[in-house]
Amino acid sequence: NPVRLQAITSVEAFVPPPVTFDPGEEPGEVFGQNVFSLTVMQKRLPKSVYKSVLTTIEKSAPLDPAVADAVASAMKDWALEKGATHYAHVFYPLTGLTAEKHDSFLDPVGDGTALASFSGKTLVQGEPDASSFPNGGLRNTFEARGYTGWDVMSPAYVLENPNGNTLCIPTVFISMTGEALDHKTPVLRSQQAMSLQAKRVLTLFGHEAPENVVAFCGPEQEYFLVDRHFFNARPDLLNAGRTLLGARPPKGQEFDDHYFGAIPERVLGFMMDTERELFKLGIPAKTRHNEVAPGQFEVAPMFERANEASDHQQLTMTTFRAVAKKHGMECLFHEKPFAGVNGSGKHVNFSLGNSEQGNLLLPGDTPHENAQFLVFCAAVIRAVHLYGGLLRVSVASASNDHRLGANEAPPAIISIFLGDQLADVFDQIAKGGATRSKEKGTLMIGVDTLPDLSKDPGDRNRTSPFAFTGNRFEFRAPGSLQTVAGPMVVLNTIMAEALDHCATVLEAAVADGTDFDEAVQQLLTAIISDHGAVIFNGNGYSDEWQVEAAQRGLKNLRTTVDALPELITPEALELFEKYGVFSEREMHSRYEIGIEQYVMTIGVEANLTLEIGSTTVLPAAIRYQTELASNVAALKAAGVGADTSTLEAVTAPITALRVGLAALSSAIGGAHEHEGIDEAAYCRDTVLPAMSAVRAAADELEGLVADDLWPLPTYQEMLYIL
Ligand code: ADP
Ligand code: MG
Repeated sequence: NPVRLQAITSVEAFVPPPVTFDPGEEPGEVFGQNVFSLTVMQKRLPKSVYKSVLTTIEKSAPLDPAVADAVASAMKDWALEKGATHYAHVFYPLTGLTAEKHDSFLDPVGDGTALASFSGKTLVQGEPDASSFPNGGLRNTFEARGYTGWDVMSPAYVLENPNGNTLCIPTVFISMTGEALDHKTPVLRSQQAMSLQAKRVLTLFGHEAPENVVAFCGPEQEYFLVDRHFFNARPDLLNAGRTLLGARPPKGQEFDDHYFGAIPERVLGFMMDTERELFKLGIPAKTRHNEVAPGQFEVAPMFERANEASDHQQLTMTTFRAVAKKHGMECLFHEKPFAGVNGSGKHVNFSLGNSEQGNLLLPGDTPHENAQFLVFCAAVIRAVHLYGGLLRVSVASASNDHRLGANEAPPAIISIFLGDQLADVFDQIAKGGATRSKEKGTLMIGVDTLPDLSKDPGDRNRTSPFAFTGNRFEFRAPGSLQTVAGPMVVLNTIMAEALDHCATVLEAAVADGTDFDEAVQQLLTAIISDHGAVIFNGNGYSDEWQVEAAQRGLKNLRTTVDALPELITPEALELFEKYGVFSEREMHSRYEIGIEQYVMTIGVEANLTLEIGSTTVLPAAIRYQTELASNVAALKAAGVGADTSTLEAVTAPITALRVGLAALSSAIGGAHEHEGIDEAAYCRDTVLPAMSAVRAAADELEGLVADDLWPLPTYQEMLYIL
């Protein structure tokens, strides 16, 4: 077959673009050079205006309209110097993608000429037509507009493009009635809610008028690279981001030689190029390495404030896609592009802190600091135990379903891994009062003599979805394609609730005259006895854990369809309403959108499977079958005994493929008889299995049909030729 074989030839002939480095260039010069950062603002803004912006950022307040014009004008001049011709409000709709609305700086003046202009009003507010973005019933059709507004906490930047540069302004995206249509708005709201409650706890620990507490996020991004010639020859990769057919490679990842092995030269060139682009945008990309599967890699930035980290994460994905194209490759962010090969996740490293108290999830140097540390850890334990279902639904998607619970990623059961040291401390606390540190072996009584906790990240447990790693928690269930905003919103909100609980209990005890240390001790003991069931330090991949988790009453929401209703339980609605993160209407809209996205994803995949099966695989198989049949006929005619076994071997899966395609076609047709979550369940229970049946027949044929007739690039080719 020409398409596939041509692709292989073209891949071999491809010459990657040279990565150019200016030897005189200091790394520091590149970093943030396209960002309208605080430093740039300080240089370019009148002192009073700059101060006002700074206050806005520190207080997470809206931008003072009185200074907006001055900021806009400085931003425009800076952007024009950087070669920008347009500006864009960048927002994060619920498709999970990044959206941009571009406008030219040029305003016609009326005499046939135009002037570059950019007012404070345009900076602060845009009005993109929102009708093409999912809103889950939040917007009436007569009011198709949505509003975007600059999130001052996230700096503007210039995005370079050979066809002209653009000033990008990160914005929130809301409906006319103020409801969130995006991923950014709830991050900001939940950040505020969490900070408020965290400050109450800090105040109890004697910090007067503490600074805002910020949620930090360090996302580790896994991805695959495939050559674009292969990518373009695979309609499934092109349209669904994953292979819907394809036999597993005989050489799999059991050859662990790829992990931390030498990075292939071509990929290294790509990585250097992406890093340079990310640096320009002020994104602190830090580590890069090979991942478990062939063709799989990882990039991790330094952690940042959740809000900025989330924007940067989106921008990282966009940049990777663009730079990969330049290098003749496609960057795949799908959680499971290749069945039977390790999938991709996006670990979300999460901590809380501020510049005064530092990282609140880092064990301290004094017993007092450690008591505070343990309260924050206990809050995490309570939060994850009470609202594990919300964490689960924050990572639910049709694509991530292929990964969670597949013995390569954490299970769908949300539990916490504390590590030996911390688990031991909480164990002792659960037993009441006296605390003996396993490590030091000294007897400790009461909170003011809590054990010294070593700051060693300690042991690792890769099978836990939520693990303490020394100074942060690592949430490992998020999928590689997902925004980190969803998990961060849930983490902030459930932490707000848990810290609220801690502060309320401690305040009441202190008001009652209980000694503070005593009150802390009681609080910790109560939390660990009420919520300790969520702690699990064993093997999360094991079957025993499934049984034990059920006995402990932990939810096991295997699929997106099981998880989505978590968004609209009375407890969830009350929680988000109480902390001002989502109204009931907003929660319902997100639930509807979740269903819509799920049904749409599987719908697209099912139709693609049908199309590729009918128009690509079946014809190739029939051609081969015909070839074999004429061979048998010719041999018979020649009077030679004909062996029909190969012909028969091919004919069986061809029949199975035909049957499977017919069944898939009718399964697709049946979807419309269902609605809402029932339609999603139908997709999972009827459409997905019908797709699998087609795949099984096609994959069997892949092992039988003559290689020169096989139309689709194979797993070996896509994974190993780079
Ligand atoms: P590993 O592969 O061991 O999990 P990596 O170094 O690849 O670790 O990634 C760790 C991620 O965690 C990085 O993004 C890092 O910046 C982030 N991180 C480190 N400390 C914190 C912290 N206190 N809060 C949030 N994220 C953190
Ligand atoms: Mg990690």
